[in-house]
Amino acid sequence: MANRIPVGILGATGMVGQRYISHLADHPWFELAYVAASPRSAGKPYAEAVENRWLIGPDVPAAATRLTVSDANDAKAAAGKCAFVFSALEMDKALLQALEESYAAAGIPVVSNASAHRWTPDVPVLIPEINPGHLAIIEAQRRKRGWGKGFIVAKPNCSIQSYMMPLFALTQAGFPAKRMIVTTLQAVTGAGYPGVPSFDITDNVVPYIGGEEEKTEKEALKILGSVEGGAIRNAPAPLIAAHCNRVPVIDGHVACVSLEFDAAEGAKPSLAQIESVWTRFRALPQELRLPSAPDAPIVVRHEPNRPQPRRDRETGKGMTVVVGRLRECPVFDIRFVGLSHNTKRGAALGGVLNAELLKAQGFFDRL
Ligand code: NAP
Repeated sequence: MANRIPVGILGATGMVGQRYISHLADHPWFELAYVAASPRSAGKPYAEAVENRWLIGPDVPAAATRLTVSDANDAKAAAGKCAFVFSALEMDKALLQALEESYAAAGIPVVSNASAHRWTPDVPVLIPEINPGHLAIIEAQRRKRGWGKGFIVAKPNCSIQSYMMPLFALTQAGFPAKRMIVTTLQAVTGAGYPGVPSFDITDNVVPYIGGEEEKTEKEALKILGSVEGGAIRNAPAPLIAAHCNRVPVIDGHVACVSLEFDAAEGAKPSLAQIESVWTRFRALPQELRLPSAPDAPIVVRHEPNRPQPRRDRETGKGMTVVVGRLRECPVFDIRFVGLSHNTKRGAALGGVLNAELLKAQGFFDRL
């Protein structure tokens, strides 16, 4: 654990920030060195700032209790204290864009969970198993903005994690999708803490999550896109229609997917071929043995009533996408159900995996 890279967390007191704190407590490459949140928390010892709202296990990890919370709005305060920051801030989009840029301008790379920069053409939206090649755009990003060591890399929305990896594995195997309908059943932790009022979600399903359907339909196209010049050009397909619902589950987003293959691209795969593609799927994070990478990015279950959030969300330490109910579809070609842990793969651990890939590819300097 010697010579670990010092890292900071912006939004360290929130739902995702707490996951970062917990995962980084014994990370082999990264050492928690800096925590920041809103002016409401700034100046407090971390344990005091999260008093009565620490949600992961009984106690705040020792690595965080020795830290005092800084104001995340002040990028200069982080200079010299951490080699890069994870951004898990929830705030106005324009303010957050400017704030993340101020860190990059101060020479501090930003590995972001927020949606603020996902549509910025020269900011990659990274899932390391799918589009590690998009990191090539960082050079153009730095050049265009006059940044030295700083840059911004974003992570996609948690809702798409449950189907992106199965979709990409099929695309890569020569079976791209043409059209998809996805219905998501999303856990309450996806709304942060305290999130959805208990009266709204207990004994209930809420068939609306602001902005979520747009993200679920569009982000996949940027991730499947290509770097052209100084921008990422979206893939033209698949056409996706999403229904996003909030359900009374603590952690674990489910996606029920109906998918039509692009017949013009080749023969349609059999169900056995599809299962074989998913089961055998491995990618760069597995090849590089990144510390947070699961051995198997996709696991297929055969029980007729799986995957389920409570039973399956911790598969691969919360980093594996669990797929089940693969069957034919009378309207499109196939149907399946995907599950991913929204605050692990979909948020903090996915962010740490992004940082591990960046480190492995030489994007971080030591302090
Ligand atoms: P959250 O629980 O509401 O936490 C928000 C964090 O932002 C807190 O640390 C808060 O600090 C800080 N903050 C709020 N206003 C601020 C301001 N004006 N200046 C500086 N800091 C401010 O939200 P979350 O669920 O952790 O989500 C964090 C980010 O990750 C969001 O952008 C969200 O879209 C994204 N995300 C979340 C999930 C998920 O499953 N929850 C998944 C993927 C992506 P205080 O505690 O001091 O108020």
